[in-house]
Amino acid sequence: MLLNCGQPLPLLRHTDVPPRVIENFILTGYRFPNYSLRDCLLSAFRPTNETGNFWTHFLPVFVFSYYFVEVFGWEGAPHGDDPFFYPLWNYFIGVFCLLMASSMAHLLNSMSLVVREVCFFVDYGTISAYTVGSSLAYYYYIHPRAGIVDTGGHNSSDSKHEPFYAIPEFSVFFETFYIPSACVVAIICVLSCCNTRQRWRRHRYVIRTLVFLLPFLISSTPVFYRLLTRSPYSTTSSAFAASTSMPCFFYRHCLWLLVSAVFNISKFPERLAPGRFDIWGHSHQWFHCCTFLSILDELHMIKVEVRAILLSPNLLLPPATLAPIPGPTVTSTYGVMFLLQTTIISIIVWFSWQANCIYGPQRDQLAKEHLKKHFKCH
Ligand SMILES: [Zn+2]
Repeated sequence: MLLNCGQPLPLLRHTDVPPRVIENFILTGYRFPNYSLRDCLLSAFRPTNETGNFWTHFLPVFVFSYYFVEVFGWEGAPHGDDPFFYPLWNYFIGVFCLLMASSMAHLLNSMSLVVREVCFFVDYGTISAYTVGSSLAYYYYIHPRAGIVDTGGHNSSDSKHEPFYAIPEFSVFFETFYIPSACVVAIICVLSCCNTRQRWRRHRYVIRTLVFLLPFLISSTPVFYRLLTRSPYSTTSSAFAASTSMPCFFYRHCLWLLVSAVFNISKFPERLAPGRFDIWGHSHQWFHCCTFLSILDELHMIKVEVRAILLSPNLLLPPATLAPIPGPTVTSTYGVMFLLQTTIISIIVWFSWQANCIYGPQRDQLAKEHLKKHFKCH
């Protein structure tokens, strides 16, 4: 943040930064696009047009963690490293990476044009990984057969005499294609969003928003199914009572997502008064707040379903060999996440290399300008 001669680097107007860096309707508060790592980190405590973007995803890491750990203190909950919690930990990894990558992307993106591109590629990658983390949690806790062990008809009249699925056509999708679909869609999302930084620039906000609608629709299918059919729990059970608030949390999750999409596409309120919301209150900060609130409601929704499973005496938690959907294993949770992350990292490396070819020469030009200013100062 400090210029080499002891003066803080002045913030720039939109006319003084490369076109690449300009945000619609944001006129001032830009950082010099060649900051050192130290300058970037210190800029978190200085009002720039990225400060609010950083804090609105950095502070939520702690709020999310606070609500997350509550599960492990519940009565009857297995130990935190029990396989039952593998999907929940994957969900945590997804959300943690998303919030950290997003806040760091906003903080560090003024190191250079190439770093800026890489930061946002990583941001898109972590959003996609988060959707798969959610899908794993939905699969093991909200899925029509979550936690239900098929005993081969020895002691379960339900599984023997009546079809489990109220809508049998969904059984193949849920049991075979749900997680693979979530992974494929996540990869399509990363590819599309990274592409919007190099082409399709004009409609980039619309494309990015719509592209993330698809993983939402795929990963939420167990919830849609639950809302369309009946609860798997007996209406007199405590598990049933525990899961009654699930739809409410889901609807709120959807509402926050919708509002965040409106902010992201409309660029409201800065569109109405360009320049007035440059530092605080512009649409991206509201977008961050709404996405976090949607995540928080999603966490509450997953938690009530976890609680319902823990309260249900008919459901077994550890992996069961006879179960149509075996319990979570390291391979089916961390393994899936690892494979997905590796693919996403490969995509990011590819796009970063391309960005380096495009913006590398501009970076050298900016470095020269920076050097000139430094000598003038002395
Ligand atoms: Zn952001």
